[in-house]
Order: sequence, then C-alpha cells, then structure tokens
Amino acid sequence: FTTALLGLLVTLSIIVLVLSLVRVEDVTLPPTYGMVFDAGSSHTSLFVYEWDSDKQNNTGVVSQTLSCDVQGPGISSYADDPPKAGDSLRECLDEALKVIPAAKQRDVSAYFGATAGMRLLREQNSSAADQVLAEIAKTIQEYPVAFYGAQIITGEEEGAYGWITINYLLESFTKVGGVKHPLLSNSFGALDLGGASTQISFAPKGSFIKWNETSRLMLYGYNYNIYTHSYICYGQNEMWKRLAKELIVHPCYPKDYKETISLSSFRTSPCTNQSDPRLPLDDRNMTLEGRSNASGCLVAVKKLFNFSACGQSQDCSFDGIYQPPVSGQFFAFSAFYYNFKFLNLTEGQSLATVRETIERFCARTWEDLSSNYPEENPERLPKYCASANYILTLLLDAYKFNETSWNNIIFQMKVGSTNVGWTLGYMLNLTNMIPAEAPVWVKGHTP
Ligand code: AMP
Repeated sequence: FTTALLGLLVTLSIIVLVLSLVRVEDVTLPPTYGMVFDAGSSHTSLFVYEWDSDKQNNTGVVSQTLSCDVQGPGISSYADDPPKAGDSLRECLDEALKVIPAAKQRDVSAYFGATAGMRLLREQNSSAADQVLAEIAKTIQEYPVAFYGAQIITGEEEGAYGWITINYLLESFTKVGGVKHPLLSNSFGALDLGGASTQISFAPKGSFIKWNETSRLMLYGYNYNIYTHSYICYGQNEMWKRLAKELIVHPCYPKDYKETISLSSFRTSPCTNQSDPRLPLDDRNMTLEGRSNASGCLVAVKKLFNFSACGQSQDCSFDGIYQPPVSGQFFAFSAFYYNFKFLNLTEGQSLATVRETIERFCARTWEDLSSNYPEENPERLPKYCASANYILTLLLDAYKFNETSWNNIIFQMKVGSTNVGWTLGYMLNLTNMIPAEAPVWVKGHTP
C-alpha cells in the first residue's frame, strides 16, 4: 500500500510540475505587436502597439510601446517629389524595429493611414496622391514587417475609429463573464481637431437617431449607432489660411506682429482656392498686421461658418449639416488639447473662465507674448488666439454645447501612456481584435 501511495504521489508531483511548466511557458510568451502610421496634413506619426499573445484576442489589453514623430511636413507636401515621402519614414521605421524583438518583426501588422491633407491632394491632383502612396508602400515593404498597404481613410472612418479608440481605452466595453459588453449609456464622444479637418463622433440619445445619418458599428456582437461627421477645410491650418485670406488687419494676431504670406499659398489648397476673382494669379505677398482685438477676432472667426444655412433647425451644426443634440461625456484631443493646454484650460475650467482667459490672452501684444513665452514656437505663439476662438465657435455655435454640457468635455491627449486618436481603433478593427458577427461597421451617412 505504501509503495502504491508513494507511486501516486510521485505521479501527482510530475503532473503538477508539467502543468506549472506549461503555465510558465504560457505566461512568458512574447507580446504581439502592430504599427500604424497616422499621416496627417501637417505631420506624420508612427505608433507601435503591443498586447499579450497568450490571451484570446478579444480580451487582450493593447498598450502603446512607442510613438515616433516623422521629421518634416505632412506627406501631401511631397506631391512634387514623392520618393521623399517614403524616405521621410525611415527614421521612425528604424526606431520601431529597435523596440520590437527581431523574432517578432515578421508578424508585426503594419498599416499606413492618411487623412485630410491627402484627401485634399487627391481632390486637386489624384495621380500625385497615388504616387505619394506608392512611394510610401515601396519604402515600408523594404522592412521586415507584414505590411497591409497605404490608404487614405475617409473622414467618417477617422471619426469612428477615434470613437472606438477612446471607448476601448476607457473600457466602456466592460467585460461581463469574460466577454466584452457594451455600456452605451457610458460611452464617450470624440472631438478631433486636425490640421485640415475636424471630426465629431458620439452615440446620440435613442430618440434622435436618424438612420440615414448614423454609422452603425457592430462591436463585440452589439450594435452601436454612432453619429459621426468630418468637416474638411475646418482643420486648424486650413482655418488659419481661410481667416488670413479675408483679412489684412488681423484682429486675432497680437499687436505689433506682422506676417507676410504669399498669395500663391491660397491656391495650393481647395479650401482657399474657390475661383475667387480677388485672388491675383501672381506670386505677390500680402502682409497681415496684428491688432490684439479679442472681440474682433471672434467676429472674424464666426464668419468662417455658414450658420444661416441651418435656418431655424436645431439639429444642424452649420453649412446645413445635420447633427443630433450632443449627449454624454466627450474627449477633446489633438489640436483641441494642444491649444487649451497652452492656455492652461485643460483642468475642467468653467465656460466663463475659459472665455475670460481667451479674451485676456487675445488682448496681449506681441512684445508681451514673445517676452513671456520664450520657449514657445514663435510660429505657433501668435496663432493661439485665433485657434482658441475657433474652438469656442466650433464647440458652442456649431456643435451646440452650452454652459452645462461644456463641463462634459474632457480635454486630454492620452489615456495612460496611449495617445488618443484614430490609429488604435483602426488597428483593433483591422486585426480583428474587436470581434463582430457582422461587418464591423456599416456606414450609413452619405456626405
Ligand atoms: P495633425 O495632427 O498633424 O493633423 O495636426 C493638428 C494640428 O495641431 C495642426 O494644426 C498642428 O499645427 C497642431 N499641432 C501639432 N502639435 C502641436 C503642439 N505641440 N502644439 C500646438 N499645436 C500643435
């Protein structure tokens, strides 16, 4: 009997040892990686993400391993020299390969998405846009990663993927019995202000769902009805240009600040080139003179929007675009965040405080600003007044946030160490990490 018992004990110990070895091996599996380029109008960034490979895809938590800023301008600026667009990515690709173990590199899914700058270039010169993308693909294919192509994503995709990113990071899809489960009532809206376009995306209150204006996202087997709209030419850089085109005396620029711009710069974008008879065809320059006029600035900024196109309709932002009433909490990121961060307005300040701060900032002269912000980029510093008033107009007059709902907007750029933007949502979708029984999202909105 003793021998039998001993035998049993030895067998049991072996089983336990084998099981524990299997578990140890499981836990130490290296993570899986993915990378996404965000090619915006003014610059390109590369994000590398990682997640545990031993977990079921849909329960793994994705985190950001690296973000790398590509040197130089946005890829649409390389229309005249497409190979340079490809070359500009090399430094960041090399950086990425330094943080990904060699053995994992061939499994890395690599994506490249371009946004509004390339949408505008395609509108003006589609073959130049194709060439830029082809050169980019050629460069990335030289690297030992699984590359899935360079695309221009639509404005609706940009908005919807931003919404997915935020709600994934904030775990709005909470796990119920190991399965992610939607908590629609707690989802966060997304407000994104880029260089050439701006996006708003949120889950409207049930009674306001207009089916032909709503994107239907199927995530984790649940349907989400998301309103999303992207406004091309309403990004920050295009807004600056549209504003300058209308002015010589510039109320938003600080007093004693002068900026010389070439009239030809207006012709390079469809946002400022609408067969305007006032635009001479030569390369003359014009000089803008700052006035530090806060109220004048707000008036000038409001003129960039066609509010009357909405008539009496409340479900309308501007330019006659349908928008249901905003509801729930919102994350405002990219240039919404950069401008408000600079003005120290990202700590939940009331609308009254925000208005006051912007008015006071706009009244300051160039001498005052440049001596008090020696660290600030001198090209950006004179533009914060225009941008801040633009943000106020967009959020209050266009999207119709009010004194109360203003407090539901969180100005933030990161959740933990992960940047908020469309790239994570895009990768989660393309790598099937947000399983759906039906196509992941069906666009209902017709622009
Ligand atoms: P992008 O992400 O390239 O579409 O840029 C969005 C906008 O934010 C552009 O108008 C940029 O000029 C601006 N921007 C980017 N980085 C910063 C920053 N650190 N501070 C202020 N503005 C920025």
